[in-house]
Amino acid sequence: MRSRIGLGLTVLAATGALLVPPWLAWREARRQAWESESAAALAYARDVMHRTDDTARQIVRATSRMNRSGLAPCSPAALALMRDIALSSSYLQAVGYVRDGALACSSLGTMPLPLGGQSFRTASGAVLYPHVPTGASASVLAAQLGDYAALMHQELPVDATAAPADVALGVLHLEQHRTAIARGAVDVAWIDRLGARRAATFVDGGRLVVVVRSKLDTIAAVAAMPAGQVERRAREIAARLVPAGLLCGIAACAAVVLFARRRRSIEAAIGQALRRNEFFVLYQPIVNLQTGEWVGAEALLRWRRADGELVGPDAFIPVAEQTGLIVRLTERVVRLVGEDAGRFLAEHPGFHIAINLSAADMHSPAIVDHLAGMLARCGARASNLMVEITERGFLRLDAAQATVAALRKRGIAVAIDDFGTGYSSLSYLQRLDLDYLKIDRAFVETIGTDAPTSGVVGMIIDMARTMRLTMVAEGIESPAQAAYLRERGVEFAQGWLFGKPMPFADIAARMTETRREAA
Ligand code: C2E
Ligand code: MG
Ligand code: MG
Repeated sequence: MRSRIGLGLTVLAATGALLVPPWLAWREARRQAWESESAAALAYARDVMHRTDDTARQIVRATSRMNRSGLAPCSPAALALMRDIALSSSYLQAVGYVRDGALACSSLGTMPLPLGGQSFRTASGAVLYPHVPTGASASVLAAQLGDYAALMHQELPVDATAAPADVALGVLHLEQHRTAIARGAVDVAWIDRLGARRAATFVDGGRLVVVVRSKLDTIAAVAAMPAGQVERRAREIAARLVPAGLLCGIAACAAVVLFARRRRSIEAAIGQALRRNEFFVLYQPIVNLQTGEWVGAEALLRWRRADGELVGPDAFIPVAEQTGLIVRLTERVVRLVGEDAGRFLAEHPGFHIAINLSAADMHSPAIVDHLAGMLARCGARASNLMVEITERGFLRLDAAQATVAALRKRGIAVAIDDFGTGYSSLSYLQRLDLDYLKIDRAFVETIGTDAPTSGVVGMIIDMARTMRLTMVAEGIESPAQAAYLRERGVEFAQGWLFGKPMPFADIAARMTETRREAA
């Protein structure tokens, strides 16, 4: 069942690893396409707007120059100035003097020129004649300010453009809510989408539309391109990105498969190692810091593979924990401790062995009977045993609480291991009745250094004392560390300074010596 779930999860992870990168690449292609095509449409709209603004500026400049000139209308000097202005204004066709709805004279000469019947007044006071009958094919617009008007080609802002033919361009009158100029289909309703903003980008009727408000505030320029253009661009970009994504996907998928196979092979190897008795236990002394006496030892599992390779617990305990094999490994450790140390324990009631338990061990009461059975078989007592549980062992707090209570009821002491390395060690201390707290090596290492966490050891010691927990400091490598902890009243210690993990026979021999030395 467990292996079938494992296989299902592996297939799921491998499929995800394969498909997610190309999918992300496709999304990225669409994002880039939208961004680049919106930027292009915005550039076209801005181009139209700049030309419209420039034209408006030239009209204002030309008419106000004439209005302020003080020259008699249609005098030779006025005609010369109008010609001058028309020649120097790039967007203006002509400048003329208006009388009775017609140009009485202009930069083109003294021939009167009708301005066409339809006219309207803008908010800024200009009078626009949108259809000046010049006889030319291009539609000409006249804008009058004061007594003078300037003529220009109506389509000029949308004509001289780099935009491709399928991009519709236009100038919209915001106040009159109408289209002033358009090249291609432009919808006046797009004004509403602009709202109070300076620019708006949206999709409408299968087109990507950009509307930009002019600085003059009364007009807006618009560019609309077929939305299919965005799709085409997305496909172009995807043609580059998706294969790269697919390669990443294949690599990630291969990594998942390799990882799963490696895990399965470690899992299979652990099972085989259990059958072939390749596991053994080394014992690291636990020392009374005040007297130096060896009062106990921690059982640390080792695996010697058939080819002689020695494998440390960090390489196989996590896999065993994930696959549920840890329960069998713990059973093996308990059995090996009984075999290695049973007789010694029966003869030394004051000496204890500490056994590491995992989360899975804590979730079933079977471990309690198991430990008690081992003690009974060798004639040892509950005081000969201690269990060490890391924070992970307390994750399912209710189950763990019941196991801790059952162990302590039998007289087996319980320690929290690697204290301070998890997320909420403190909350476990509050909710569980424990006997020992093992200060993790990570904090002991900082003693006497200027590491930012060097003050943490002191805080842990104070807290353990408040909670009436006996302390064991782990990973002591220097006499200075030992001295610091001794001064602060830490009861027990463990570390290379006193002894590395060793066969139990060495522990037994040395323990008697240290007892004699301490006496
Ligand atoms: P742990 O329970 O915190 O054990 C202490 C680890 O620190 C041991 O590593 C020990 O060899 C190492 N150590 C002790 N003193 C020193 C020192 O002064 N300096 C340094 N650098 N290291 C020191 P080990 O044996 O590799 O075990 C690693 C972890 O594997 C253990 O950490 C424990 O969590 C786990 N483990 C070991 N045996 C078992 C087992 O039988 N069952 C379970 N569930 N976990 C085990
Ligand atoms: Mg431990
Ligand atoms: Mg530890």
